[in-house]
Amino acid sequence: MKKSTSDVSELGLEARRNFLKQFVSSVATVLMVYVPGARGGHEVSRLWKQRSREHQWAYIIDIDKCIGWGGCVRACRRENNVPDAVFRTWIERYVVTDEGIYVDSPKGGLEGFEPVDAELREKAKYTRFIPKMCNHCENPPCVQVCPVGATFKSPEGFVLVDSKYCLGCAYCVQACPYGARFINPERKVSDKCSWCYHRVKRGKLPACVEACPTGARKFGDLKDPESEVNKILRQGHWTVLQPAMHTGPTCFYIGLPREVV
Ligand code: SF4
Repeated sequence: MKKSTSDVSELGLEARRNFLKQFVSSVATVLMVYVPGARGGHEVSRLWKQRSREHQWAYIIDIDKCIGWGGCVRACRRENNVPDAVFRTWIERYVVTDEGIYVDSPKGGLEGFEPVDAELREKAKYTRFIPKMCNHCENPPCVQVCPVGATFKSPEGFVLVDSKYCLGCAYCVQACPYGARFINPERKVSDKCSWCYHRVKRGKLPACVEACPTGARKFGDLKDPESEVNKILRQGHWTVLQPAMHTGPTCFYIGLPREVV
């Protein structure tokens, strides 16, 4: 039977549809097998990344042990030549009352804290000292916004800045939800806590951890099942700052009051 013109064009359309279906399906199969991010490739790249890590460092701050003495802030300044008026780590004091939360951090807690005034002390339900610093996030927004790749995440968990490449544009300073970055007023480049990378790679602890007289700051290797940080985190009573930001901090807090998370 002779086909009409519209039948012929229908057949052509169908053939084209079939061809496209087959093409898309073959491309999808290739993607599934070879491209990281597709199912199989992603799994392979994740496993490879895990195996390539010798260590996976983590930091713990136990709020119940912090006395706000400031030795950690002083040790950090000495170790890292931190200029006046900027901080790689600092301590905030939270006085929680029924009327609200009063927060102060005179000189970043460098010289400790004066007692709170009598009126506030009367109203206080409790007071806590909360040390802060870069959280060495798993998904660091500061790294994502750097236009030249000067800041990066190492496989072992450090978020670092290569000052040779930093333009001092401060995009990373704005992107950090924790206020952990600043532009170094002397070197004019982005700066922040490095977990004392230069010490850790020589087998030493970060200066602030070594200086803490109460053991409120701990640092260790999550790859070592016997490490103190591993044992503490396995107990499960930890939280991180601003979990809703989904940055995946690897600085974990023990005893952080619900009101100040
Ligand atoms: Fe970056 Fe801020 Fe996270 Fe540190 S705490 S890794 S500076 S986003």
